Amino acid sequence: MRLVSRRIFMGGIGLAGSVALSPTVRALGGVATSRPRSVTRVVSPLETRVGDVFEVRRTFPLDVLSHVDPFLLLDHFDFTIARGQLGGLAPHPHRGFETVTVLFDGAIEHGDSVGNRGIITSGDVQWMTAGRGIVHEENPADVLREKGGRVLGAQLWVNLPARDKMTAPAYQDTAASRIPMVEDGGVRARVIAGHAHGKSAVIGTHTPMVLVDYQLAAGAEIMLPYPENWTAFVHVIDGMLTVGGKRVPPAHLALMAGDGAHMRLKNETQKTCRCLLGGGQPIDEPVARWGPFVMNTRAELQQARADYRSGRMGRVANPTYDRIRHR
Ligand code: MN
Repeated sequence: MRLVSRRIFMGGIGLAGSVALSPTVRALGGVATSRPRSVTRVVSPLETRVGDVFEVRRTFPLDVLSHVDPFLLLDHFDFTIARGQLGGLAPHPHRGFETVTVLFDGAIEHGDSVGNRGIITSGDVQWMTAGRGIVHEENPADVLREKGGRVLGAQLWVNLPARDKMTAPAYQDTAASRIPMVEDGGVRARVIAGHAHGKSAVIGTHTPMVLVDYQLAAGAEIMLPYPENWTAFVHVIDGMLTVGGKRVPPAHLALMAGDGAHMRLKNETQKTCRCLLGGGQPIDEPVARWGPFVMNTRAELQQARADYRSGRMGRVANPTYDRIRHR
């Protein structure tokens, strides 16, 4: 392996304590002898609309990529709300997994059947465990609607293992200021879930995984030791990323092969690049999906539909959506 540039940023998943940030790969010992993971394929997004206003570009599930176990879905959204524009996402149920909203710009209001209500803004993360069932609404916040503005973010769905699918709903609304961050060599890494670059996330997960929000300045580079049996993807939010010799444009995803013990990401352009790296230990159980429900069997999906229809997942009290719905 050739030596890395002066701007490389290194850190380890699961390494205790501080991580050496050195200009040579030698600093992380055995890592230098392994090869970086290659890219299995670069996935182009499907453009779709969720609710009235969320214009999303989905990189999974698609025909070419059903999921990246334990991650079930990735929707990248980037749209502008005009001043006074109505619309949002009406109350709807979920069961059997977790929804994770990472917001980079804008303001989204959330309300659910368990009584949680809140607004996330730039940099915040909302990690919601639907478990046995929750009904929620997700709308551009009033503050955004009054002035108009951009909404940039991503929603990911994270699977729950069979033993936890019927767990009680839970809500981890996490302000940007609480998300552990490391900055070095032109890279900013925010550790949303798991452990990376010597930091541990404040958000808890049901199975081992990692989710990191990276910003790479022009020319910056990342090397991250990575468990060999874990899945991995890199989804580009903004700018252009080079990984495994492939260039990945915005709203595209690089599905990583399991052929190396570290991840190597570079920004070879003159513009900042932002991307999400995610993956984990596969749950490796059957995935049965029907719209907002993800269970292990078709019978469990039918039960979920019946439970929702009969009101057993609750309802959102005084939905914001009633006030802002498209007429
Ligand atoms: Mn939802």
